[in-house]
Amino acid sequence: MRKNLILILLPLLCATLWLTTSCRSSRALRNDPFVLVVDAGHGGNDQGAAGRRSLEKDINLKVARRVCKRIRKKCKDVEVIQTRPDDHFVTLDDRAGMANFFQADLFISIHSNSARGWAEGTETFIHPSARGGRSEQMARLIEQEYVRRGRKSRGVKTANFAVLRGTRMPAVLTELGFISNRGEERFMKSRKGQKRLARCISDAFIRYRRDLR
Ligand SMILES: [Zn+2]
Repeated sequence: MRKNLILILLPLLCATLWLTTSCRSSRALRNDPFVLVVDAGHGGNDQGAAGRRSLEKDINLKVARRVCKRIRKKCKDVEVIQTRPDDHFVTLDDRAGMANFFQADLFISIHSNSARGWAEGTETFIHPSARGGRSEQMARLIEQEYVRRGRKSRGVKTANFAVLRGTRMPAVLTELGFISNRGEERFMKSRKGQKRLARCISDAFIRYRRDLR
């Protein structure tokens, strides 16, 4: 019985391996578009941090949607994929898995911070093993754009977050600001604030791509 199972599974495994490798090489040969995965943190039952009048999952999604919309408009040669286009739950493994499956060239995860007291400002994380590489380059560009548009930057930091650990391409996780801070929450909840934050991230992406060429 076990032998029969091996006889069935082995050709399947070989076919899958062949398909994966041939897809990858043909993608490179065809000069396929740059693939960007935009990940709105949390969603569905997982609301993330809660402010006085807003939930993190909603702010993340609204900003992520704007980022995608602007990049699709400005960079026609980029394929933009959202890990969650609406308010539903996606596991951390699936978020990273999706980026790996599509062989993304860059992964951007969008979150909002929370802390006790009056903490404020933006920060962008990379995996500790990604120091000095493209992830760090992208993280610095995002923080520079935040500053250019009047936000207070807490800088680029490292963390062993699941989505940063699980993705096999340059990856950043950016915190838009502190939802726990009344002033920042007001800004992050407003249309104007969300527009400005999305501009920062998409302009950083445009600069990142320009630097790659
Ligand atoms: Zn979060």
